[in-house]
Amino acid sequence: MLANKTALVTGSTSGIGLGIAKALARQGANIVLNGFGDADGPQAEIAALGVKVTYHGADMSKPAEIEAMMAFAAKTFGQVDILVNNAGIQHVARIEDFPVERWDAIIAINLTSAFHASRLALPAMQKANWGRIINVASVHGLVGSAEKSAYVAAKHGIVGLTKVTALENATTGVTCNAICPGWVLTPLVQKQVDAKAAALGISNEDAKKQLLGEKEPSMQFTTPDELGQLAVFFCSSAANNVRGVAWNMDGGWAAQ
Ligand code: NAD
Repeated sequence: MLANKTALVTGSTSGIGLGIAKALARQGANIVLNGFGDADGPQAEIAALGVKVTYHGADMSKPAEIEAMMAFAAKTFGQVDILVNNAGIQHVARIEDFPVERWDAIIAINLTSAFHASRLALPAMQKANWGRIINVASVHGLVGSAEKSAYVAAKHGIVGLTKVTALENATTGVTCNAICPGWVLTPLVQKQVDAKAAALGISNEDAKKQLLGEKEPSMQFTTPDELGQLAVFFCSSAANNVRGVAWNMDGGWAAQ
C-alpha cells in the first residue's frame, strides 16, 4: 500500500516509534529512523522487511538538527510523505519539585519538535497533494495525571497542534491525526514500573499490575505493533477524510 512512499519516524530506535516504523515498512514504505542509542539493530530489522532504510541522529530538542534531518531525508529519498512525530520523554514529580530543565526538555522534545518537523515537511506534502502527519500524543493528551505536569501539558498541546495542522490542510490530500496510547510496556514505562516496585518493595510483575489497575480497565498493555497498525490505517485511503482526530488506544482509560 505504501510502496514508493517515504516515512520519517522520530524517536524510532526503540518502543512505539520502532513498532510504527516496522508496520509502515511492512506496507512497503522506505523509512528514515531517528533517535538515540543503538541504530544498527533497528536499521537491520527494517531492512529485513525489504525496504530502504536510513538513519539520522538529530536531537529533537534542537531545531537546527531537526532542519538538518529533514533536509537529509529529502535528499536521500526525494521527499517525506509520512511524518510520524513520536520522540518523547517523561519525568514524574510534583509541580513544586519539578526540575525546570526537565520541564523545558519535555516541552521541546514532546511538543515543539513536532511543530518544527511538521512545518518543514508540509510544503512538499502540499505540492504532492498527499501526505500524512501522525502525532504520537497519549491518553495524557485527553486527561491528566498527578505528577506529570510537563508531559500532560505537552500532550494536550500536541492534540491541539494536530487539529490546527488538519484544519489548515483540510481541502488537500494532506491529513494530520494523533494517536493516544494508554500504557505501552516500553523503556519509558519500564522506568515507572521500576520506580513503583522500588518505592513499594514489590515485584516487577506486581508493579505492572498496580500500574494497569490504577488506570487501564482492560488490565492489558497496548503494543507497539497495535499502534503501528493504527498508523497504517491513517495512511490508507480509507482514512482520506479522517482529519484532526485524537484516537485513543488505551484499554478504556479515557472512557471512565
Ligand atoms: P521509548 O523511550 O521506548 O522511545 C523514545 C524514543 O525517543 C527513543 O527512540 C529515544 O531515543 C527517542 N528520543 C528521546 N529523546 C530524544 C531526542 N531528544 N531526540 C531524538 N530522539 C529522542 O518510549 P516510547 O514509550 O516508545 O515513547 C514514544 C512516544 O510514545 C513518546 O512520545 C511517548 O510520550 C508516547 N507514549 C508512550 C506511552 C507508553 O506507555 N509507553 C503511552 C503514551 C504515549
